[in-house]
Amino acid sequence: MADVTTIKVKKQTAEKMKKGFPLIEKAAVLTNIEMEEGSILSVTDEAGVFIGKGYYGKQNKGIGWILTNNQSESIDRLFFVNRLQAAINRRRSFYQDAETTTFRVFNGEGDGVGGLTIDYYDGYYVCTWYSEGIYHFRRDIYEALKEVVSFKGVYEKKRFAGKGQYVEDDDFVMGERGEFPLLVKENGMNVAIYLNDGPMVGVFLDQRDVRKKIRDTYAKGKNVLNTFSYTGAFSVAAALGGAKHTTSVDLAKRSLAKTIEQFSVNSIDYEAQDIIVMDVFQYFKFAKKKEKSFDVVILDPPSFARSKKHTFSAAKDYTGLLQEAIAITRKNGVIVASTNCSTFSMEKFHGFIKDAFKKEKSSYEIVEEYSLPDDFRTSKSYREGDYLKVVFVKVK
Ligand code: SAH
Repeated sequence: MADVTTIKVKKQTAEKMKKGFPLIEKAAVLTNIEMEEGSILSVTDEAGVFIGKGYYGKQNKGIGWILTNNQSESIDRLFFVNRLQAAINRRRSFYQDAETTTFRVFNGEGDGVGGLTIDYYDGYYVCTWYSEGIYHFRRDIYEALKEVVSFKGVYEKKRFAGKGQYVEDDDFVMGERGEFPLLVKENGMNVAIYLNDGPMVGVFLDQRDVRKKIRDTYAKGKNVLNTFSYTGAFSVAAALGGAKHTTSVDLAKRSLAKTIEQFSVNSIDYEAQDIIVMDVFQYFKFAKKKEKSFDVVILDPPSFARSKKHTFSAAKDYTGLLQEAIAITRKNGVIVASTNCSTFSMEKFHGFIKDAFKKEKSSYEIVEEYSLPDDFRTSKSYREGDYLKVVFVKVK
């Protein structure tokens, strides 16, 4: 077994960690020592009293995660078998739902191992590794996965910058290779998935409940605008829910073919829909000039994005984005304001909404709210992990 490095953390952090806070933050570490990716850390308070055992792995946030508060528990194959099995047991209802064949099986610290997520796509598993450190444990973790589930195949995504950019290597790990697109189901809606084509596979699973809600309750007979539309999943859900018309806008050229594909696998005539490759902010200008307006406007931008003309940061610019949306939403229309930015809270998000309506001299009513779905299990001691905030706002 690897050597254990003992580190001390500051008093305040020690108190938090004793209550279950799992992230090892660089600024909290008092011990001045070189640590290696994947090394086992024994975390103690200033007095040297054991708090937890974890690993060193540098991510954007933190330098590692606590894995257990039990000093005698080893971090080995059996440890991962237990964590994986517990995660799978919690998701029995997902495995049994024939209408949904894709979901998150393992959600990082929410399931007890920060830095690793595992998603399920109809028999295929995708492991996403968020640091070189956690990737050091891959052999044990893949062995554990073999032990607790039967699968068609396993793929992996590495979300840590080794030498800069994401490296487009072969993501296949074991089992049999899939044929892509792989067609999976989400509440009966078909989704075309590619596990061998870069970091994004075609759908963001955390929006499942929101897509269902739009489809079931908000779409019928409506004119829907889906901004930052990626593969158009919200548009497809709206069309299946009986939307009169959908408009999908995304800057990425490939979003056009990807959106056509998602409509097509659901037998929706994509030619009856608008799919526009354009900067969203450009589109807002165009829509205003043409006096276009919508019943439903979906805003689901990335936390950060840079286009030729615009830098968008959710934390700084969401109010402005909402103002643009308010200007082209009909009275009694609904704005679906979504963000996956973990640096601000739901309360702050409400503040952005309030400011935007005030600036637009318009009033509103919050109709409903969503956070992460049940398969994206979060830790009560680590609220930052509960990043998704979706607010349905009615324009009055
Ligand atoms: N809402 C999508 C996911 C969005 S991912 C879904 O539910 O599936 C973020 C998308 O925003 C990417 O596809 C990216 O190409 C797009 N994007 C980023 N900046 C943009 C901009 N300024 N205008 C339009 N699209 C943008």
